[in-house]
Amino acid sequence: MVVNTDDKRILNCGTTDPNKILPMKYLWAREHYKKGVSNNWVPEEVNMQKDVETWKSKDALTEDERRLIMWNMGFFSTAESLTANNLVLTIYSHITNPECRQYLLRQAYEEAVHTDTFIYCCDTLGLDPREVYNMYNTIPSIKRKDEFVVNMTKSLLEPNFSTEGTENIQRFVHDLVGFYVIMEGIFFYAGFVAMLSFLRRNKMVGVGEQFQFILRDESVHLAFGTDLINTIVTENPEIWTEQFKTTITENIKQGVELETAYAFDSLPRGILGLNADTIAEYLKYIADRRLERINLKKVYGTENPFPWMSEIIDLRKEKNFFETRVTEYQTAGNLKW
Ligand code: FE
Ligand code: MN
Repeated sequence: MVVNTDDKRILNCGTTDPNKILPMKYLWAREHYKKGVSNNWVPEEVNMQKDVETWKSKDALTEDERRLIMWNMGFFSTAESLTANNLVLTIYSHITNPECRQYLLRQAYEEAVHTDTFIYCCDTLGLDPREVYNMYNTIPSIKRKDEFVVNMTKSLLEPNFSTEGTENIQRFVHDLVGFYVIMEGIFFYAGFVAMLSFLRRNKMVGVGEQFQFILRDESVHLAFGTDLINTIVTENPEIWTEQFKTTITENIKQGVELETAYAFDSLPRGILGLNADTIAEYLKYIADRRLERINLKKVYGTENPFPWMSEIIDLRKEKNFFETRVTEYQTAGNLKW
């Protein structure tokens, strides 16, 4: 693979032929693609038998535990499709660079796997899909998160939107922050903490493992999204004004508030060694990391109350962190012949 250092640019590049992936310029896109492939999984690999027994038994779960599971099924089931649609209908059409598109195709497939995961959970646990897939309408704190992302990423859906000119590049980056940093980087995280807490307590381990796989995928999506944002800013430094940086920071703060409201709504009382106040601390901690990742100043300065979350994200081919079973984390994609 030859690295080309010519005048290729990620946006508005008349010399980009989307069909010519080699020579390649943005090697980070290639790295994320390979990482995605080596993390391959499908929901059916996870055994749900114990979960079915737990879910159907009358007293294995408390009302608050059931509520927490249902809230997260409700948010994720539709959020995964929202993400997939945004990706394919908007981002893909504006990013013509072939190595980035190759990653976007991989990501779109992973979103399909995530959507499939919630079909699998509904089927195995016998959840009522009319309830689960309508929670984005009926649960206000879920509705507000989805509306926020839809509003924040509106300009890309305008049929005549183009990325030409400083103001339009800003709108594009603004919307990328909505998709990648807020939706995938913040709005999924109260749910991840909650569902992985079940796993740590050895309850609903099948569902917990599904979320563990999704979390690992999402951390790569976030890494790609922030590399994409940073590359656009580096190539178009005029967009990175103080005012624009403030707007982005304020949006991220608003995302943290909405996710915090969701955490309190889904977890009104402490359970599983968790409470919404601690999740709120965690959300501030990860928001600071996201801000720093796109070269903005952190705003909260809180400590990470869940260091075990980072250990899960970093899991590779090794024994499952919670020892619910031995898992070959990476597939043959990485074998050396
Ligand atoms: Fe996803
Ligand atoms: Mn994703």
